[in-house]
Amino acid sequence: MHRAGLIAVTLAAMALLFAAGYWQGFRSTLKQIAERGDAALVLVTERLTLQLERHRYLPAVLANDPIVQEVLRNAPKVQSANQFLQRIADTSGALDIFVTDQAGTALAASNWDLPRSYIGRSFASEPYFQRAITGGLAFYHAVDANTGGRAFYFAHPILSPERSIKGLITVKVDLERIESQWRGDRENLFFSDQNGVIFLSNRPSLTLRTLNETPVETTSQYANQVLVPLPSFTRRPVGAYQFWSDLGLEDFPQDALFLTSKVQTLNMDANILIETRPAHTQGLLFGGLAATLGGVAALLAAILMQRRAALSAQLSIEERAREELEEKVAKRTEALRKVQGELVQAGKLTALGEMSAGISHELNQPLAAIQTLSDNSQIFLERGDDETLSRNLSKISQVAERMARIIKNLRAFARKEDEEITDVDLVEVIRDALSLTSNKLTKEGIQTSWSANGPLHVRGGRVRLQQVVVNLISNAADAMQDAEIKEIEIATKPSKDRIILTIRDFGPGLKDPEKIFDPFYTTKTVGEGLGLGLSITYGIVQSFGAHISGENHPRQGAVFTVDLERTSKAKA
Ligand code: ADP
Repeated sequence: MHRAGLIAVTLAAMALLFAAGYWQGFRSTLKQIAERGDAALVLVTERLTLQLERHRYLPAVLANDPIVQEVLRNAPKVQSANQFLQRIADTSGALDIFVTDQAGTALAASNWDLPRSYIGRSFASEPYFQRAITGGLAFYHAVDANTGGRAFYFAHPILSPERSIKGLITVKVDLERIESQWRGDRENLFFSDQNGVIFLSNRPSLTLRTLNETPVETTSQYANQVLVPLPSFTRRPVGAYQFWSDLGLEDFPQDALFLTSKVQTLNMDANILIETRPAHTQGLLFGGLAATLGGVAALLAAILMQRRAALSAQLSIEERAREELEEKVAKRTEALRKVQGELVQAGKLTALGEMSAGISHELNQPLAAIQTLSDNSQIFLERGDDETLSRNLSKISQVAERMARIIKNLRAFARKEDEEITDVDLVEVIRDALSLTSNKLTKEGIQTSWSANGPLHVRGGRVRLQQVVVNLISNAADAMQDAEIKEIEIATKPSKDRIILTIRDFGPGLKDPEKIFDPFYTTKTVGEGLGLGLSITYGIVQSFGAHISGENHPRQGAVFTVDLERTSKAKA
C-alpha cells in the first residue's frame, strides 16, 4: 500500500477510535451523573414530604379538639379558638389555620387579628372545601389570589359526636417558606403538577412557568395569573435519556440532563436538570486517549514494516547485481522470503533481526566471489581461454552450493506450526544453538563454558527449543558488548523429573526483571531490539509445559533459568 493510503487509513482508524472512546467515556460518566440525579430526586422528594408531613396530620388532630368543636356550636367561644389556632400556627410553622362552617364561611382563624383575616370569608367554591366536606382529608395546591403566594392546603372535616359533618378545619402551608430552605442546593430541582405548571422549585426563575409549549389557560387555582412557558430550548433524546439545551435562563447549564419521577403522595412530578459537561470532558479524554494509543500502535506497525521493507530491498539489490545467477538466487530469495513470512507470522521478530544480519553477512561473501568469478569468465571467454573459463564455472558452482547450504541452515528457523511436542535431546539442541551463534560469539570475543554429559531428553519441539536457547545466548552476547569478562556459562542440572537449564552472562544484568517478558519491552536502541524475543521465548517455553525465569546474579550479570520436564524415555 502507498504511504498516503496508509496515512489515510491510520487517520480514519484514529478518528474511529476517537469516536468510540468518546462515546464510551461520555456514556459511563453520563450514567454516573444520572445516578447522582436520581439520588438527588429521591432526596428532595423525601425532604418535601417530610416538611409537609407534620402539616398533613395537623387538621385531623385539631378536628377532634374540644376548642375547635366548640366553635361550631357556640359563638362566644370563637375568640379563644382564634387564639388557640394562632398559637398552633406559630408553633407548627403553618401559614394559616382556619375553621369553616358547613356552608364554607370562616368562623375562626389564626390570622383573625391581621388585615388578611379570613373571618367571615367564604371558601365554599374552593376545590379542597368541596372535596373535604364530603368526608376525608383533602390536599390541594393553589396560588392565593389576595397575596399571590403559593400554598399547599390540607382540609379535614369536623364531626359532631353523632358523626355528622359540621364544618372543616384547613391548614395552609406557605411554599416560599419551604423553598427558602432549599436555596443553597447545587442542583436545579423543581416540582410540576398535573397541568405541567412548575409549582415549586429551588430556582425562583422557574416557578409558575409551564412546561407546555404554549401558555396554559389559567384558572383560579393559579389566581388567574398568566403562566408563561419556559424560554424556548431544545429537548433531544440521547440514548434512553432526555437532554435540555440552551435554556434561556440565567445560571442554567447550557446542556443538561433532564430526569423526572412521579411523586404519588403529592400528585406531582419531581424534576431535575443536571450539567452534562463532565460527561463531555470525560468523552474527550477517553477519545483522545484511544486515538493516541491507536496512533502509537500504527507507528509501531510502521516501524516493523519499514524493517521488513529494508530487508527485502537489500536482498533485491544483491539479486539484481548478479544477473547470471538470477534464477538460482531468485529461488533462494523466495525461499528466504517465505521463511521470513512465516517468522513474522509467528511473531519471531527478534529472530528475524538476527537473521537479516546473518544472512547479509553469510551471503555477501559468496555472492561477491561469484561476481568476480563471472566478470573474469567473460574476459576469459573473449580471450578464448576455455580451460580457465571452465575452472571458473566450476568454482561458481561450488560457491552456489555453499550458499544453498547456508540457506538450508536458515530454513531450520522456520517454525513449523505443526511441529510435534515430543522428547528432544537438550544436549544436542544446545550444541546446535551454539554452532548457529558461533559467528556472532567469535566476532565479539565471547567465550562459552559448557560441558555436555550425555543425552538429556526433555519434553518439547526441537526447532522451537533451539530458538529459545539461541535467543538466550544472543541476549547474553548483546548484554556483554562492553563487559570486562565476556563469558556465557551454560549449565544443565538433571533431577528425577526435571532438567534445569541455566544461561548466565557477565553483562550489566537486568534493569527491570519484572518487565523482560513483556512484549515490546526493550532497553536497546531503536532498530536494534524490538522487545519481542523474550516474550516469544516465554510463549514457546509455556507451550512445552515448562517454565522460564530471569534474574540478576548476586555477583554479576543475568541468569535465565528454564525448568523443563524430563521425559520418560530418558529415565528408562
Ligand atoms: P530485545 O532483545 O529485542 O530487546 P528481548 O525480549 O529479547 O528483546 O529482551 C528484552 C529486554 O530484556 C532487553 O532489551 C534487555 O533490556 C533485557 N535483557 C534480556 N536479556 C538480558 C541479559 N542477558 N542481560 C541484560 N538484559 C537483558
